[in-house]
Amino acid sequence: MQDSLFRRIEDKQNDLVALTCDLIRFPTVNPPGEAYTPCAEFLGERLRKRGFEVSYHRAEGVVGDSDKYPRTNVVARIEGGRPGPCVHFNGHIDVVAAGGGWSVDPFNPLVRDGKVYGRGACDMKGGIAASVIAVEALLEEADGFAGALEISGTVDEESGGYGGVGYLAQQGFFSRPRVDHVIIPEPLNVDRVCIGHRGVWWAEIETQGRIAHGSMPFLGDCAVRHMGAFLQRLESELYPALAAKRTAMPVVPEGAKQSTLNINSLHGGLSEDFEGLPAPMVPDSCRMIIDRRYLIEEDPAQVKNEVVAILESLKHDREGFEYALREVLAFQPTMTDPDAPVVRAVSAAIQEVLGRPAQQVVSPGTYDQKHIVRVGHLEDCIAYGPGILDLAHQPDEYVGIDDMIASAKVMASATLALLDRARAG
Ligand SMILES: [Zn+2]
Repeated sequence: MQDSLFRRIEDKQNDLVALTCDLIRFPTVNPPGEAYTPCAEFLGERLRKRGFEVSYHRAEGVVGDSDKYPRTNVVARIEGGRPGPCVHFNGHIDVVAAGGGWSVDPFNPLVRDGKVYGRGACDMKGGIAASVIAVEALLEEADGFAGALEISGTVDEESGGYGGVGYLAQQGFFSRPRVDHVIIPEPLNVDRVCIGHRGVWWAEIETQGRIAHGSMPFLGDCAVRHMGAFLQRLESELYPALAAKRTAMPVVPEGAKQSTLNINSLHGGLSEDFEGLPAPMVPDSCRMIIDRRYLIEEDPAQVKNEVVAILESLKHDREGFEYALREVLAFQPTMTDPDAPVVRAVSAAIQEVLGRPAQQVVSPGTYDQKHIVRVGHLEDCIAYGPGILDLAHQPDEYVGIDDMIASAKVMASATLALLDRARAG
């Protein structure tokens, strides 16, 4: 069956390219969450015509949702006729803003030299299209399979996924017994299986001071200098400590195998949007957002404590040092067991289709797997899809057509194995 399934996928190449282009034409830019509903309905309509039961789920009341920018998700399901496991393909339909530097129109896709160009081609409309073609080929090939197949198009992945997979997970869409195996066709390169991601902790730290005339700073207390003292301690203490923490997770790229901290933004004193000359003032507030990425070996409480300990010690030692800390975002690391069914099935399919062993990797940043594992409590989840990770969010983003065909074969073959595995068991 494999040969004819693979041939069927090859025969669908034009359909695959056209579907990718159609998806790119919806400018689903997030923020603010443009064109979500028509894009979700386009995907849903296609699958409904092929016999799927299709439903739409607006994440009402979730951050970002409004009548102008509704958070519309689509879930499509088809039953195989006999009981069995459910394999689910989840793709996010949102893309980041085009930005500058494009040599082609980001929302008018271009097919050239075996590639499809456009915003979202790689991250991840090419992946969604490949999974749709894989499932459609499988349905044409395997009449009356055991189990169920699902495809979802979800929103807001680029902004945390609360209105997308996070919302659906809360409604039970990513839990057993409804779903057993999830594949997220994110662009992780066609021969790599991504089994999880590092943790993330964002916090806003404010140092406080006292306002005064800039010519007499001794009458006030400069919040920016207090922040400077904190930054110094990060340099001398925290950064070396983080660099020394190494993980056994197979994180790529190599630099992300350690704990990291990014200073996301820093603002103190006068706002930057005034016209003319600045007024002489001592800043009474300085705010900084930190973006801490951590390893599965680390305790989330400890991640926070390391920062708090420095702030507390400054409060003790440095005259006038006052601070406030506000947690902005937190997701724990997740890593699927390398021996889990979906990892084995996709790895075996990569070997079969590409003739080389699959590489198992962990992503430096988070993606929607966190909601599926933490909220849905479904462990058997990976990211696998076409496209080169480094091209995501870049100008002139593209996806290779050969890669899409290869990954569609891998997804179809892995799905067959996951369904068959249940029958054998
Ligand atoms: Zn993505």
